[in-house]
Amino acid sequence: SPEIQQADPEVFEILEAEDQRQHTTVRLIASENYTSKAVMEATGSRLTNKYSEGYPGKRYYQGQENTDRIERLACERAKSLFGAEHVNIQPYSGSPANLAVFYAMLEPGDKVLGMGLPFGGHLTHGWKVSFSGRFYDAHAYAVDPTTEQIDYDAVARQAREVRPKMLICGASAYPRTIDFQRFAEIAREVDAVLLADIAHIAGLVAAGVHPSPIDVADVVTTTTHKTLRGPRGGMIMCKAEHAKAIDRAVFPGLQGGPHMNAVAAAAVAFGEANTDDFKAYAQQVVDNARALAEGLLTHGLRLVTGGTDNHLVLLDLTPRELGGRAAATALEKAGVVVNSNSIPFDKRKPFDPSGIRIGTAAVTTRGMDQGAMGQIAGFIGRALDNIDDDTALSAIRADVEAFCADYPIP
Ligand code: PLP
Repeated sequence: SPEIQQADPEVFEILEAEDQRQHTTVRLIASENYTSKAVMEATGSRLTNKYSEGYPGKRYYQGQENTDRIERLACERAKSLFGAEHVNIQPYSGSPANLAVFYAMLEPGDKVLGMGLPFGGHLTHGWKVSFSGRFYDAHAYAVDPTTEQIDYDAVARQAREVRPKMLICGASAYPRTIDFQRFAEIAREVDAVLLADIAHIAGLVAAGVHPSPIDVADVVTTTTHKTLRGPRGGMIMCKAEHAKAIDRAVFPGLQGGPHMNAVAAAAVAFGEANTDDFKAYAQQVVDNARALAEGLLTHGLRLVTGGTDNHLVLLDLTPRELGGRAAATALEKAGVVVNSNSIPFDKRKPFDPSGIRIGTAAVTTRGMDQGAMGQIAGFIGRALDNIDDDTALSAIRADVEAFCADYPIP
């Protein structure tokens, strides 16, 4: 944009460099995507200038005729997309959304049971270094050591033992379908509130390619910026009976003025997600993850759980005697951007774990299909065979750049 180029060349240069990076690399971070231009325009709109503490019809400042309209529209669209009874679109992001649910449903010190971080759960599901593990009596469930998948009977046994006030399901690094129905049965049996955090799979849920927790969970949280392909933001959906408590927890409990530019952009994204095009996109995300998994297996790599049902695969580098960090660094030199990730029962440290997490949401938005996934698996395989060879990595990078040129980003 010429305006910022004139006004602030220093920032402009950084933004240009980031555009270039996003164009020329293969983006496989499972939590990232490319939004549409329309979503970016709403994010950059003049709604960024407006304070709107409160909720539609009950604001604390004047001048709210348009903020009320946009927030109502975003919530109505989310309700229709997910079939939710109540929606709060004000959380600044996924972590604040989860914090609000804890604040609304629990007292400090109450017991919670969530998936442990090393098994794919999120920090905010009760991990020690997060508010959720510090201010609550947090317990964690693991996965089965053999299948590396959730053992629902084991979770049920642990829930009977712990008697949590809130049971949390949903994950950041779990490549398999989550059985929300089964979690709901467990929660009901021990009289716990069920929180389903669908941040990663929200786009798949919206499109019907992953089961939805909406009917069975008391509260559902999500981010709007991962598979759902909206702006950075958070959202809480709940049964009508919890609406008041949730709304009060978000404002005035935890936040002041909502970011109405992000709310407008979320409304745009929900509109986009409620189309046949988006359903096809979400199906392609899953098909691509499966194709990528097959490609990686062909290259002799090991996958946690052996494969995937959703948008991500988790590579276990243990048989290669490689650390995740060294692998991620080498892949970045080759133009393939991933993050290192803990694997179940990891013997290495969280900062340099044994795994690599790979997601297909962003590359699918670029129009890449199963054939392209085969090529990407080839880039990954070559880079992992040559992690100490900068010349080989540069050669892959050149191939990756040529490959990327065929797939424009919005
Ligand atoms: N919940 C899950 C399952 C996530 O994977 C994430 C983000 O990675 C979050 C919550 C937190 O979202 P944010 O990073 O927007 O705070």
